[in-house]
Amino acid sequence: MTIRDLTKLSSDIIDVLVIGAGAHGATIAYHVAKAGYRTALVEKNDFCGATSASSLKILHGGLRYLQHLNIKRMRHSIAARREMMQLAPYLVEPLACMMPLSGKGLRGKRVMQAALFLNDCIGWDRNQDLPVDIRLPRGHIVSEKKCRETIPDIDSEELHGGCVWYDGLALDTERLILEYVLGSISYGAKAANYAEAKAVEKGDDDLYQVTIQDRLSKETHQVKTRFIVNASGPWFEKSIQAPGEKDKKQKWALALNIVSKKKIFEKYAVALEGHTQYEDKDAIIKRGKRLYFFVPWRGHTMIGTEYMESVADPDCLQVKREMIQNMVDGVNAIYPPAQLKYEDISFFHAGLLPMHSRSEENNIQMEKNSTFFAHTDDGFSRVISVKGVKYTTAPYIAHEIVEFLKKECQPELGIGKLENSSVADGQWSSEQLPYKDILERKYGQRAIQILSFMQKEQDSDIWIDEESELLKAEVSYLINEEMACKLSDVVLRRTGLGTAECPGRKVLEKLADYMSGVLAWDETRKEQEVNDVLHRYAPLVFQDVCNE
Ligand SMILES: Cc1cc2nc3c(=O)[nH]c(=O)nc-3n(C[C@H](O)[C@H](O)[C@H](O)COP(=O)(O)OP(=O)(O)OC[C@H]3O[C@@H](n4cnc5c(N)ncnc54)[C@H](O)[C@@H]3O)c2cc1C
Repeated sequence: MTIRDLTKLSSDIIDVLVIGAGAHGATIAYHVAKAGYRTALVEKNDFCGATSASSLKILHGGLRYLQHLNIKRMRHSIAARREMMQLAPYLVEPLACMMPLSGKGLRGKRVMQAALFLNDCIGWDRNQDLPVDIRLPRGHIVSEKKCRETIPDIDSEELHGGCVWYDGLALDTERLILEYVLGSISYGAKAANYAEAKAVEKGDDDLYQVTIQDRLSKETHQVKTRFIVNASGPWFEKSIQAPGEKDKKQKWALALNIVSKKKIFEKYAVALEGHTQYEDKDAIIKRGKRLYFFVPWRGHTMIGTEYMESVADPDCLQVKREMIQNMVDGVNAIYPPAQLKYEDISFFHAGLLPMHSRSEENNIQMEKNSTFFAHTDDGFSRVISVKGVKYTTAPYIAHEIVEFLKKECQPELGIGKLENSSVADGQWSSEQLPYKDILERKYGQRAIQILSFMQKEQDSDIWIDEESELLKAEVSYLINEEMACKLSDVVLRRTGLGTAECPGRKVLEKLADYMSGVLAWDETRKEQEVNDVLHRYAPLVFQDVCNE
């Protein structure tokens, strides 16, 4: 029986309805439900299908906030990163980052050594309660030789070493957010994907009545709630418009990362300065250049982040071939030995982020802090809108919102009461044991829940595709227990099968065949599901791969 049931949303009055299940909405729903509020979470597409799926996968501890001397922001980042790493240790690993050092002053060894020392002091508790294998070591300075080994043929005569620090790498940002969604359900929240908040009205009983449309069945449901948290990311001005707050005020920038099949650096995420001058208006210690990160990830390299002003509607966000080509050219200018070609690009990430302003020198200044605000219009009191700028700090905003709610009304349910423990009991039989590692790597403790689906599987061929290590039982589990409704949900947001590159038409068709059996899709629907996934890679030169 599926856990996606929209009639459950409207069965009782709830305390807090969260709109949007990106990093912010999902962490808010988790913490609000854990605090004891009756909570519901609705997402108009799939969980973590928008901006939050585009992150560069770095869970920052905020070393670069030292530039702004913003210790408070660093502490928030460190605490939030630790929480994410604790929640799903199977989805994170330490990421060694290296920045070459050349010249004197801010680019010199002494300054960076002091910065690393401060970073470790400010993050003294960064590893508290973390499993040993994901703890983050202290930062250190490496020799020029080591730096040249890591960044071969780096063009810098003044190079005299490298600065190394550690952040968290989210192996799968989409599953990490799903962990928060599933966790919120464990604390009693009701959650649904493909459920869009369409309209908000205030009833005579002073409760909000929110019309939710099930985008799969097209049915509508009315949800009654005391509070609304609008965590709809770049849609935040569109989702809820209080009277008197109709004007769109927020500026947006399109942020872009590219994923290359070519491994550019082996073990380190390397931070290199861009070529054009960039002045960070808020920085107290100015560097003069924007940093680009080259992050090794799943045998690929993620490179980012590039920003460009955008007036695009978030529903029509489009990445054009020229944008990717410009970034490829930019990478070759920053690090010529990369010799990157358009054909090396296997995937890209794009999303809209709140922009502060554009300077006279044409530098885009991004907003630096995630914030939330309670709507001031009387008719719309008890509505809170979130403006998030970082994936990593989302849990911090969630804690702040719980504190805000507690001042308004105390939760009635018991704090931290687990209603449905999502981790089932079970034992791996000798026939199932060979799949234990594969499944635990992908699903952590949840892997045990797949056992019962393995037992039910009638077919002697247990694979959908052996090379991609995709089992029939796991897809059954994802449909039944994790609300996977579409092919793209499985490919892009549950298994990571297609998040580094296109898995190819043949694999997609095999998966679509299997899902058709479970979800009763006809041939037309099946074809449409496959094409929808292929469309995600659209501006890339991949036709040969995708047709295989
Ligand atoms: C290219 C790129 C690289 C980045 N790199 C990093 C990084 O390395 N580290 C880091 O910490 N951060 C990074 N960020 C920033 C981070 O990804 C974002 O700040 C964060 O994910 C925003 O999360 P959100 O929940 O506010 O928005 P979103 O993830 O966009 O979530 C909002 C959700 O609301 C839903 N929604 C909208 N309207 C409705 C409605 N009416 N009803 C129901 N649902 C609705 C949307 O479908 C969407 O899923 C990066 C961002 C980009 C784009």
